[in-house]
Amino acid sequence: MSTITCRCGDTALELTGAPIMTATCHCTSCRRAAAELTARPGAAPVVDAYGGTPYVMWRKDRVKVLRGAGHLREHRLSPKGSRRPKGSRRVVARCCNSPLYLNFPGGHWLSLYAVRFDDPPPPGLRTMLMDVEGPWPDDDVPGAKRQTARFMGKLLLSWAATGFRRFPLEPMPPLEDAG
Ligand SMILES: [Zn+2]
Ligand SMILES: [Zn+2]
Repeated sequence: MSTITCRCGDTALELTGAPIMTATCHCTSCRRAAAELTARPGAAPVVDAYGGTPYVMWRKDRVKVLRGAGHLREHRLSPKGSRRPKGSRRVVARCCNSPLYLNFPGGHWLSLYAVRFDDPPPPGLRTMLMDVEGPWPDDDVPGAKRQTARFMGKLLLSWAATGFRRFPLEPMPPLEDAG
């Protein structure tokens, strides 16, 4: 079992088991969201040296809000430019403007922002490099235009492990524009 917290510590999530995998997303939506969320008062960067957002993907049924549920707010990108996936939302701890995770509608996992971990597992794959303008990152992390078959296989296996459970999005107040 492990715990991740917002920067101030008022909000904490308890994680059980092991992550599904780690992935660093370079899609336009993640980059836009990172820019918007990082611009909020007191916020800290969530991207790596190449502008990708490292995530640790965890089964939803193994993530529990330990404290600070009242601080959780959802951030959705404005329709402009958010071509995919529709309606995904990022959840931010409002106490200190710390992004916690990305939630895809219909997904059985949460993509936890790796910066929330004291000791994040190493990045396994760069995804959605097709959205990168300019040269691709040239470090040792393997990259893919979209996702790899292995990536999709791991997701499918972890969904099977939940019994192909459906996880409806719980209602959550929006992140206000003012900090
Ligand atoms: Zn906080
Ligand atoms: Zn993305």
